[in-house]
Amino acid sequence: MAQLSKILRNVEDCGLMFYCPGCKGMHMIKHGAGQRPRWQWNGNVDKPTFSPSILVRGTKMTEKGKADYNAWRDAGFPGLGHERQFDSMPTVCHSFVTDGRIQFLSDCTHELAGQTVDIPELPEWAQDE
Ligand SMILES: [Zn+2]
Repeated sequence: MAQLSKILRNVEDCGLMFYCPGCKGMHMIKHGAGQRPRWQWNGNVDKPTFSPSILVRGTKMTEKGKADYNAWRDAGFPGLGHERQFDSMPTVCHSFVTDGRIQFLSDCTHELAGQTVDIPELPEWAQDE
């Protein structure tokens, strides 16, 4: 598994990863044959196009959740090991990747919703030496 270009890595089972500046993390799609879902890829490592759109759902802590977590940490994690929930909210990242650019749709919950940006270079930790 290796870096294919400045912006793309491949991973096992025909996976491709790129860095999402909206989520500040990596997203992965799979192309070719195998267990669905699979995306179409134009084969270009510098200006990739994927279809259909990429939808990533997750959760993140709200400001209240982070504050509660920090208070718990500062208190030395009392009751560690028991089920504990922090206030969180669902996140959505929905994009079209076309010619090396990411078009974020308006249903994204991050700050790049509605914008189109170049796929950034892979962060250092995701680059080959
Ligand atoms: Zn994203």
